[in-house]
Amino acid sequence: MPTLLSPEEIATQAGSEASPNRLPSPRVFAGRAERLRSLAPGHAMADFLAFAARLAEAQQTLLDRRGPTTPPDEAQLRRCRQHGMPPLDAHGAALPADWMAVLHDLATTVVPHAPTGLKNAIAALPDFPEERLAALARAILRGDENLSNPVELALAPLIGASLQVLWTAAALGLATTDIPTGFEGGQCPACGAPPVASIVRIGDAGHGVRYVTCSLCACEWHVTRIKCVPCQNTRGIAYQALEGASGPAHRAVRAETCPDCQASLKIVSMETDPAVDAFADDLATLSLDMLVDEAGFQRAGRNLFLFLP
Ligand SMILES: [Zn+2]
Ligand SMILES: [Zn+2]
Repeated sequence: MPTLLSPEEIATQAGSEASPNRLPSPRVFAGRAERLRSLAPGHAMADFLAFAARLAEAQQTLLDRRGPTTPPDEAQLRRCRQHGMPPLDAHGAALPADWMAVLHDLATTVVPHAPTGLKNAIAALPDFPEERLAALARAILRGDENLSNPVELALAPLIGASLQVLWTAAALGLATTDIPTGFEGGQCPACGAPPVASIVRIGDAGHGVRYVTCSLCACEWHVTRIKCVPCQNTRGIAYQALEGASGPAHRAVRAETCPDCQASLKIVSMETDPAVDAFADDLATLSLDMLVDEAGFQRAGRNLFLFLP
């Protein structure tokens, strides 16, 4: 027999429909893995994309096992909403107690599939000093890691993947209405991390609605189209795409460039290809980053499977 919704339930549902924020799908990593697998064959980075697919698959297994994390208490959530602070702030956060276990689980699962250049470093993870791993994880959360050591460089995507599992589990513990609104900028309203890219989704009315995808917790926040995400400028925004030998290559991905702050953030479109994933399609179009870099723009997106010295 159908039951009536309480006034609180009605308010929550209305709130979530109106919210400019989206929580991640509980199957987000499985979706990424599938997209990465489909992008790998014939790609110049085929081995790495296939490895990234394995890593995303392992992330999904751990996320399923972990389930949504208990959210911060109601008073804390209210304070965050009132002051526009991310409730899962990544910058100054302590690492969850079982972080190291998540990292080691990922390493054990993916090491047989790792490309030659990464295999030895991942296999040697248990011998790597824990304090250095934790320092590296905190630096990645703050976005100021300084990677010149080749072993740290090889381990960084694995550390990034473990942090994604923890923050996505935490995001899944929230309700959409727990996330502050009124943001159209370059920081995730749920965790404060930078975006990986933006995505045009098909809205209820059938037209494209643009969201920005968080590089860490996979939440998404709405930003109007034709607008620079880092600086909010709307003038002189331009788009660059990859040209293949026979016409446009990777048609669903373009780089949105801003003449004011010289930033470039990718925009992937479900209108062009319903299977796109902001994270996976970003990783598969690094040649587009080189193109916009040569034109004088700086990459604003952050991909936690990709670290450069
Ligand atoms: Zn986030
Ligand atoms: Zn800008």
